[in-house]
Amino acid sequence: MQINDKKNRIFCIYASFFVILHRKIVFNTMSKVLLISTGGTITMVRDKVSGALVPADIETFKAYMPELFAGTIKVEIEAFSPLLDSSDVNPAGWLHMAQMVYDHYEEYDGFVILHGTDTMSYSASALSFMLENLSKPVVFTGSQLPVGVLRSDAKENLLTAIEIAAAKDEEGNAIVPEVTIYFEDRLFRANRTTKRNAEHFSAFNSYNYPALAKAGVHITYQPHLVHYSDPKSPLVLHTQFDQNVAVLKLFPGIQQPVVRALLRTRGLKGVVLETFGAGNAPTDKWLYRELKAAVDRGIIIVNKTQCNTGSVEMGLYAVSLNLMKAGVISGYDITTEALLTKMMLVFGEDPEHAKELLSKDFCGEMTVE
Ligand code: ASP
Repeated sequence: MQINDKKNRIFCIYASFFVILHRKIVFNTMSKVLLISTGGTITMVRDKVSGALVPADIETFKAYMPELFAGTIKVEIEAFSPLLDSSDVNPAGWLHMAQMVYDHYEEYDGFVILHGTDTMSYSASALSFMLENLSKPVVFTGSQLPVGVLRSDAKENLLTAIEIAAAKDEEGNAIVPEVTIYFEDRLFRANRTTKRNAEHFSAFNSYNYPALAKAGVHITYQPHLVHYSDPKSPLVLHTQFDQNVAVLKLFPGIQQPVVRALLRTRGLKGVVLETFGAGNAPTDKWLYRELKAAVDRGIIIVNKTQCNTGSVEMGLYAVSLNLMKAGVISGYDITTEALLTKMMLVFGEDPEHAKELLSKDFCGEMTVE
């Protein structure tokens, strides 16, 4: 079946050959994808009493998606019980998802994770760091409208995500062996994404890195943008998180007691310092003193710009010199979602080398100048 048979595309999953960017994409008829459902709007129904959206059970979800089992890619499902709104997904949830991928890694060609959009970028970023040497696709997706709603974006997002998770080249290698987010018509590197819209179907963006694929009539992959792990290295699962981290967002007029209270939080190990523009901050002496004292106490402070696009460049303006003097390190063009989850994992796994590790790019999450 040809992929440009648009009508059928949302009703079945293809097993076919087609050429994109001079590469032959193959859906082996035996391709197997594990669908891990954590919940999110995609699985929700309206509560009869409160009228609010709540996750349904997995059987209700499956009943709305007969297409999952009608195609030639074999889809099997594992589900969280109960299914969650993503506001309730935390490091324990990330561990559960990553463990499922790890435990079933040899059995499947790819993985799709259904997840609420609100914290999807956090979970997907976390998994990108937890699953070292990944050589199979792990595609997160969800929807802005529940699967049972007529205009829902659920089927399109899910069926295309499955197609991407199953796509291989002629040698049998996955086309996008990364943790990614597929939403509306774009495939993004997960640890570059941010939820940007609470209403539009195009809910995510990757401001500092181009899309890895675009889906229209064809799915156009950009292999030169994909991060490939060494295929000879085995998958390693990292599981230790330390949640003693915080975000400090600067604003004009911020007061010393607020900064002091946060930086003196007991047990605090790392801070994402959200700064202005290219990594700038007010030059108040008290701010310098508080930051310097925190760094001297062993807290690692990483400078992350409040701008969506562009990078921190400490030293470009005089108003960032104090941060450098205080020992704040650069987060370059990383997202807050990626930086927070990376911090938790680094403090959990290798706290002694945290500063060095947080200055390094692990798997394409930041552009180190
Ligand atoms: N509150 C929902 C969630 O994140 C929103 C969504 O899925 O779009 O679980």
